[in-house]
Amino acid sequence: MGWIWIALVVVVIAIIIAKIKRSARLVIYRLQEEEDATKSAEEQRTAQATDFHQELRQAADIFSRRVKGMRSSNVEQMVSCEKCGVYVPASEAIVRRGKVYCCEEHSA
Ligand SMILES: [Zn+2]
Repeated sequence: MGWIWIALVVVVIAIIIAKIKRSARLVIYRLQEEEDATKSAEEQRTAQATDFHQELRQAADIFSRRVKGMRSSNVEQMVSCEKCGVYVPASEAIVRRGKVYCCEEHSA
């Protein structure tokens, strides 16, 4: 009769261990889920931050391009005459045969 009780106790212990394991697994699963949720929230935040950063960078790019454009329109590039070496604004220079000149006479 004694071994039946021992077997019963072993079975009960096994069942208890199985239940503990299951609940532990559940707890781990829940923790992982929570971790995933926080991770995805963090990822979203990072993505938003990156978007914001990109927008900021784009705005900075546009701004710097505009400033450059303003500069280039205010201070025009100067080119040197091939014949006399005088510097003239690029828009006023005369280009002949791939060379720039200050006036029609020098380009001839
Ligand atoms: Zn010239």
